Amino acid sequence: MPKGRITVIEDRCKSCGLCVAACPKSVLRISDRINDKGYRPAEQFAEGCIACRMCALTCPDVAIEVFRIDEDAR
Ligand code: SF4
Ligand code: SF4
Repeated sequence: MPKGRITVIEDRCKSCGLCVAACPKSVLRISDRINDKGYRPAEQFAEGCIACRMCALTCPDVAIEVFRIDEDAR
């Protein structure tokens, strides 16, 4: 299983929660921060991301970037 991580472009996020619901590994949540638009942006709060991209594909505001972590990287 690949390993990954995500970043949220926080000022794009509208706190809809679709990414949280879409993540098969349940590693996303809505944070306590407030962005420039007054929404609480999503965040990755736990390890276990498999870089499946479901969150990024689901986000209507294209606010999520997914990175695959190369386990062979030295
Ligand atoms: S890439 Fe997949 S596993 Fe990783 S946070 Fe997004 S939905 Fe969850
Ligand atoms: S789907 Fe996009 S806009 Fe909605 S909470 Fe997740 S990152 Fe924010």
